[in-house]
Amino acid sequence: AWNQTRGAGGVEFPCLGQEGPHVITRLSQLFVRTLRDDPADAEVSSHRWLVRAGYVRRVAPGIYSWLPLGLKVLQKVEAIVREEMEAMGAQEVRFPALLPREPYETTGRWTEYGENLFRLRDRRDADMLLGPTHEEMFTLMVGDLYSSYKDLPLSLYQIQTKYRDEARPRAGLLRGREFVMKDSYSFDVDDAGLAASYQAHRDAYIRIFDRLGLEYVIVKATSGAMGGSASEEFLAVLPAGEDTFVRSPGGYAANVEAVTVAPAPAIDFTDAPEATVVDTPGTPTIASLVAVLNAEYPRGDREWTAADTLKNVVLKVTEPTGETWPLAIGLPGDREVDPKRLEAALAPAEAAPFEEADFAAHLALVKGYIGPGALGKESPSKVKYLVDPRVSSGTSWVTGADEQGRHVLHLVTGRDFTPDGFIDVAEVREGDPAPDGSGPLALARGIEMGHIFQLGRKYAEALGLKVLDSNGKLVTVTMGSYGVGVSRAVAAVAEATCDDKGLAWPLELAPYQVQVLVTGKDQEMSQTAEDLAGQLSGVGLDVLYDDRKASPGVKFTDAEVLGMPIAVVVGRGLKNGVVEVRNRRTGERREVPVAEAVTAVRELTGR
Ligand code: ATP
Ligand code: MG
Repeated sequence: AWNQTRGAGGVEFPCLGQEGPHVITRLSQLFVRTLRDDPADAEVSSHRWLVRAGYVRRVAPGIYSWLPLGLKVLQKVEAIVREEMEAMGAQEVRFPALLPREPYETTGRWTEYGENLFRLRDRRDADMLLGPTHEEMFTLMVGDLYSSYKDLPLSLYQIQTKYRDEARPRAGLLRGREFVMKDSYSFDVDDAGLAASYQAHRDAYIRIFDRLGLEYVIVKATSGAMGGSASEEFLAVLPAGEDTFVRSPGGYAANVEAVTVAPAPAIDFTDAPEATVVDTPGTPTIASLVAVLNAEYPRGDREWTAADTLKNVVLKVTEPTGETWPLAIGLPGDREVDPKRLEAALAPAEAAPFEEADFAAHLALVKGYIGPGALGKESPSKVKYLVDPRVSSGTSWVTGADEQGRHVLHLVTGRDFTPDGFIDVAEVREGDPAPDGSGPLALARGIEMGHIFQLGRKYAEALGLKVLDSNGKLVTVTMGSYGVGVSRAVAAVAEATCDDKGLAWPLELAPYQVQVLVTGKDQEMSQTAEDLAGQLSGVGLDVLYDDRKASPGVKFTDAEVLGMPIAVVVGRGLKNGVVEVRNRRTGERREVPVAEAVTAVRELTGR
């Protein structure tokens, strides 16, 4: 059998591989332009290089077009995800992105999604949305067709475009407003079934992320707007990530949003000194307060520190319905409220800082001097007062006295004030103890690549998905929901592998595994390059042949920017019968006789 290479002047070569017809792609014909300048909005390297190497182009904030090279990588990620989903027995379907309002109204998500949801209207004035995720649609579809426990368990998946009007689209493909997700959903008749489906997905995800070649961690997560219980995230360990996670030496791993601090055991306060109000003029901040305390009211045993103070932060909470209410959070003065932990704790409601107008409407709250005395459902202000778990019964604090320039010393929780409850939203710090006692926590950054949830019966309940069980009784189906960021994975792998010269793909995801470069004009060189490209293609490798009439410098630079794992350079060495084989990722270079070039590349690629 003979194969025809593509493009003008193509030569024929024997087909050595078993994989059907092979073509080599000529760079002179490929729809790509490498750019010399970084995109103006590039914050992270993967974004910079994917644009500069001509893999993607921005259309609008968070919205990208895929060019031939980028699309090949995307399709390779899709293929890995698809293979592993099929291997675990999930079946592929595809839903539209354009959806009716009604199912999302039924589950409450039409409202709960807030501004993140793309809403639109059709010509009949019916409300529509662009799907941010498809729990409702899958639940309805299964309910339409299935009615017996005998049909279950069932796992369905799709690889499809999602829409979220993200507040901060960022870093190119990493946080898009349009992006590709693999979403799957499991349907079981009981909790044991759900646990098994969840485990099967978890195992499949481990295989997927192993194959993507990313360093990742599996962390405990919160379930956010999804509802449901058990949930874990797969985070690629990369400083460019927006997620912060913690790890302990004993194996605890969690997203910071999911770290829980157990309330400290109650302390006996029988001998605690009495609460005393003192003058602390000009101390609206913790630092200024600590300085005055040490100057005017020294403790004797040690210095006062910020950790001795109880800081009360007031916020305005807005429910998805638009209703607002004030919330005060009491926490040790050496810690801040972590915005992401707060967001997770209040979702789907959202919090904003208290503003002058809000203070004006709550005169009992003296800015800079707010204390527990003015807070709580039982207080005249009726402001809900939740405290950090460290503010447990018997702990003693310096805190605001609700008067300008005054604070209280020795205010004891449970003796002098009783909060309305706990809220666990203080920042998590390096060295804090792991909640399970497995040692001090270390913090690191990651990119959320996948998320698996045990949803339970929330969606099935809301949308009436029931089946007859083995006793002929109608039971509500229990569900799991599982996502992989497919387009995000392209960027994450690029981020993990690129360097200061450009992209550097792993073999399994590279658009082409080999790039052949010819660095001279004479006929023998281009003939050799052409032949080598053909032979490499013949053994089943994807080959990109730089046949352009450009200078060697331009070709070398572009090869590094484009990031194919292996380059074969046909240049001056040819007169001595050798070509150079370069490994993009290790930087290794080796001269080999022309006749051994294919073998050398096969060794590097395992083909
Ligand atoms: P994030 O916390 O990053 O906003 P999420 O928790 O809202 O993500 P999920 O609803 O769990 O996302 O979606 C499943 C997967 O889809 C995520 O794990 C992530 O890989 C991907 N994903 C989510 N939002 C985006 C986005 N805006 N752009 C690209 N990929 C995304
Ligand atoms: Mg998530």
